[in-house]
Amino acid sequence: KAVAHRISSGQVILDLSSAVKELVENSLDAGASNIEINLKEYGEEYFKVVDNGCGIAPDNFQVLARKHHTSKITDFSDLHYLTTFGFRGEALSSLCALGSLTVETRTKNEAVGTHLTFDHSGSVTSERKTARQVGTTVKVEKLFSTLPVRNKEFSRNIRREYGKLTSLLNAYALMAKGVRFLCTNITGKNSKSVVLKTQGNLSIKENIITVLGLNTFQCLEPLSIRISECCTIEGFLSKPCFGSGRNMGDRQFFYVNGRPVDMPKVSKLLNEVYKSSSSKLYPIAVMNFIIPATSYDVNVTPDKRKVFISDEHSLMLSLRAEIEKIYSPHQC
Ligand code: ADP
Ligand code: MG
Repeated sequence: KAVAHRISSGQVILDLSSAVKELVENSLDAGASNIEINLKEYGEEYFKVVDNGCGIAPDNFQVLARKHHTSKITDFSDLHYLTTFGFRGEALSSLCALGSLTVETRTKNEAVGTHLTFDHSGSVTSERKTARQVGTTVKVEKLFSTLPVRNKEFSRNIRREYGKLTSLLNAYALMAKGVRFLCTNITGKNSKSVVLKTQGNLSIKENIITVLGLNTFQCLEPLSIRISECCTIEGFLSKPCFGSGRNMGDRQFFYVNGRPVDMPKVSKLLNEVYKSSSSKLYPIAVMNFIIPATSYDVNVTPDKRKVFISDEHSLMLSLRAEIEKIYSPHQC
């Protein structure tokens, strides 16, 4: 049973970025306005996420890392009206099965915090009082140490995993309003580098300047298009003839109702239309698709990065028409 749990956990937590993503989403769900992500050796040794959110009440300690324990969903029909990021209650349980989990937390009703350790099955193995502010720290040491093959792969690809993680954190930092992000990485004997730092800006515009830089921001134009009865896109798109020399991924950010998602088809569409005017560059994009909760489903894959949108085909056609209006008339 333990082995089966490890294997299924490895399907929820695919890599470093999906692990950290779960923790950051928990912090956002907890209403944090300050989220700090600390990595040791690019996350290979440990990663931890420190927040100033609501904290975890003592009633929940024992069940916290049990599979399918969640405080966020009370009725199955809620699945259609999700407003929080989490809802499966699988992240902490999976992280326990894959590495060593410790949690430190305090709610406003407690005078002191509690430090908890867990075993690989998700049971609490120790509990002691500790001084801390209201909020939660979740630390995972030696991710994948319980899956030898995955662990080897993880060590071998750690720099690439780290790159993927930083672009994911950028995606959250761009869209979050009023949330300060700090991500640091410690390597060797104590050399610390700041990977990401934002000030809790209140607009996406300011976030873009902080995260992607003023030069990038100056290439962009605000975007607000209605592509159907129920779908609008808000965000920023690079002006005609301005773009990134680098290919896709790290300069294109897509969201559904503020949730970062992968949209390979949209990315391909942008690149294609853009290419007809400029052969060398790729468009830069920060695009938030605003769609009613009943018209899409992110519950498709455990990491919730994949999204099904109803009537996607006609949305893509209207989107193409809109993007062509922006790019096609220009020849760089
Ligand atoms: P889910 O997010 O799907 O509910 P998780 O396994 O990610 O499941 O988390 C389990 C529970 O632990 C959450 O429902 C929440 O009650 C609590 N929790 C986890 N992280 C935090 C946090 N940073 N702040 C407050 N509560 C948290
Ligand atoms: Mg969660």
